[in-house]
Amino acid sequence: MSAALPSAPATRHTVLVVEDDLSIRTLLTSALHAAGYAVAVAGTGRAAMFEAGRTQPDLIVLDVGLPDTDGFEVTRHLRAEGVYTPVLFLTARTDIEDRIIGLSSGGDDYVTKPFHVQEVLLRIRAILRRSAAQTPAADRRFPLRYADLVLDEQTHEVRRGGLPVQLSPTEFRLLAVLLSQPERVLDKREILSRVWHYDFAGDARIVDTYVRNLRRKIDRVPPQLIQTVRGVGYCLRAAQQDPGQAAP
Ligand code: CA
Repeated sequence: MSAALPSAPATRHTVLVVEDDLSIRTLLTSALHAAGYAVAVAGTGRAAMFEAGRTQPDLIVLDVGLPDTDGFEVTRHLRAEGVYTPVLFLTARTDIEDRIIGLSSGGDDYVTKPFHVQEVLLRIRAILRRSAAQTPAADRRFPLRYADLVLDEQTHEVRRGGLPVQLSPTEFRLLAVLLSQPERVLDKREILSRVWHYDFAGDARIVDTYVRNLRRKIDRVPPQLIQTVRGVGYCLRAAQQDPGQAAP
C-alpha cells in the first residue's frame, strides 16, 4: 500500500563520458558516481560509438578533441545511425564557428574547458530534465503554423513553403517556442528558460547561436520570419519593408 515509492522516478540515468584526458575523465566519472549516475567511459571516438551502442546512455559527455576523430564527427555518426541521445560537448576551443558546427551536428549543449565540475553536473541535470519533459508531450495535437511555416510536434516535422526542414532537437524546441506566440517578442531569458529549462543563470549567448543556426535553415527563402529585436530578444514575424525597426 505504500504509494510513495512507485511514483518516484527511481530511474538511474546512465552517462557516457568520452574523454581521452585521463585526469578529466576520472574527475567527471567520480563526480557523476557521487551524484548517483551510472557511468560508462570511452577514450576514443571509436570506443564511444561502441559504448553508446552497448550501454544505451541517457546522455553523452563528449570531448571535442579525441585522438582518432573529433566529437562532432562522433555525433554525426550517431545521428546517422538514428541515435538521438543528447550530447554535452566539452570543448577547449572557444571559436564561435566551432560551436556552430557542434550544435548543428545535433548536439545539445557545450561547456568550454577549463570547467567547474559543478557546472557540468548542472548542465547534465538540465539536459536530462528537458529530455524527460519532452517524452510525455502530447499536450498539443495540432501543428503550429505561421505564414508558410508548419511545425508538427506529433510527427516532429517542420516544413517551410511545403518543403521539409531538418532541425536538431534543440532547434526544434526553439522554433516551437517562437511559434507558440508568433508576433510576440520573447526575451532571451524567457527563451533560455523555456527551451533549455535552465533554472540557473545560463549564458544567453547560446540563444543567439541557436537562432543563427535556425535562421540558416528556416529563413533561406523570403520573407524572413525570425526577427531580432535589438537588446531584447527575438520574435517570429514576417519581415516588413523597414527591417531593423524595433518595436517602440
Ligand atoms: Ca581531448
